[in-house]
Amino acid sequence: SRKHKVTIVGSGNWGSTIAKIIAENTREHTDVFEENVQMWVYEEDVTIPKESKHYNESTADTPQKLTEVINKYHENVKYLPGVALPPNIVANPSLNDAVQNSTILIFNLPHQFIRKVCEGIRGEIMPFARGISCIKGVNVTDDGISLFSEWIGDDLGIYCGALSGANIASEIAQEKWSETTIAYDPPPMDSRAPTPRNASPNPDAAGEIPEIQHLDARGRKSKTKLTPLPIEYPPLDHNCFRMLFHRPYFHVQMVSDVAGVSLGGALKNIVALAAGFVDGRGWGDNAKAAIMRIGLMEMVKFGKEFFSETVRTGTFTESSAGVADLITSSSGGRNFRCARKAVEKGVSVQDVEREDLNGQKLQGTSTAHEVNSFLKARGLEAEYPLFTAVDGILRGEKKVDDIPALVSDT
Ligand code: NAD
Ligand code: 13P
Repeated sequence: SRKHKVTIVGSGNWGSTIAKIIAENTREHTDVFEENVQMWVYEEDVTIPKESKHYNESTADTPQKLTEVINKYHENVKYLPGVALPPNIVANPSLNDAVQNSTILIFNLPHQFIRKVCEGIRGEIMPFARGISCIKGVNVTDDGISLFSEWIGDDLGIYCGALSGANIASEIAQEKWSETTIAYDPPPMDSRAPTPRNASPNPDAAGEIPEIQHLDARGRKSKTKLTPLPIEYPPLDHNCFRMLFHRPYFHVQMVSDVAGVSLGGALKNIVALAAGFVDGRGWGDNAKAAIMRIGLMEMVKFGKEFFSETVRTGTFTESSAGVADLITSSSGGRNFRCARKAVEKGVSVQDVEREDLNGQKLQGTSTAHEVNSFLKARGLEAEYPLFTAVDGILRGEKKVDDIPALVSDT
């Protein structure tokens, strides 16, 4: 039987941490996975910072290629400095090369770059590959709103699930215990497809792999017809993904609610910005708790209103991808920290992002604008007063002091 080859598309703070988890697991389950894991790196020149174990005063100013540094020192010195990566992670600057022959694709990069990345690999991947999106954001266009898992799946013609949870990357990279939620719900026959040759009812078409229509995260017939996984491969089911992601310090809960998991990860970033705003204003823990309560209600309402066919309220109120992520992100996440500092210093959140994050990207600012334009186009801004207030504050049209009055009826 064949083994699954895994590629991580992305190598930022979370991308590198997830690559570490996966590479530790592929090393332990070589009967199911190829040991080496490909990690696509958006190539750039870097210098080795002081936080790295490989910092050396004499070479401190010499720029080097990030991929070469990762493969030599087994450390992502720019986005995850000071953390040893398993040597079976192979950093690859070529996206096309990194995804060749992979049956499992893990998408983990800031959401603004995903469209370009998918364009680069459309038609290049295995037709029966399966994806997991670790991206926290939603895709808003004039036509409406979609999840990145759905969008990636439709664009590449594969099934894509979602991973999200209370997962501040730097803590997990240090192997401090946390939980996560993975939603994966392909059509039932996907887990064990017949061999392509036997499957064809038409002898002339022997060797062609049949396609299966499936339902998307909203319960509608998906645009994507899936190609089943040949029987030579171990099934790509909940057990397989648990084996790939679960670590003693990273506990995985497998669920089927792709919409709830994806929306939790995207919408909590708007709430975390609001928590940062009120903390920066010095209002204390009661105000922050009020923001989290109101934010959670708007998240649930949004899920029910736009993804009602499949979303489970329990995903928001019970899973790591819901309330737990809301709490951790509103305590120590980057969106929270940048928003707090912006209010304290009287500057924009984008200015703090540029100055403090060394190339890491916030997702909450663009998600707040995208969700707001989606709600505005439907005349629904007033029904989501906290989401609307955050967008207004980011645009400089509203003030933090306006928040209590704006959310007073919720
Ligand atoms: P990051 O914030 O570290 O972003 C930097 C990454 O973007 C780098 O890998 C960089 O190479 C890449 N990049 C820059 N310009 C690019 C371009 N033009 N094209 C492609 N890539 C480019 O990223 P991250 O923290 O790994 O976040 C990825 C996703 O994971 C986000 O959706 C985020 O919300 C989510 N997430 C992050 C954390 C966390 O704690 N960092 C935790 C959970 C989920
Ligand atoms: P930030 O992007 O705000 O750091 O949030 C990280 C996260 O998603 C924690 O679960």
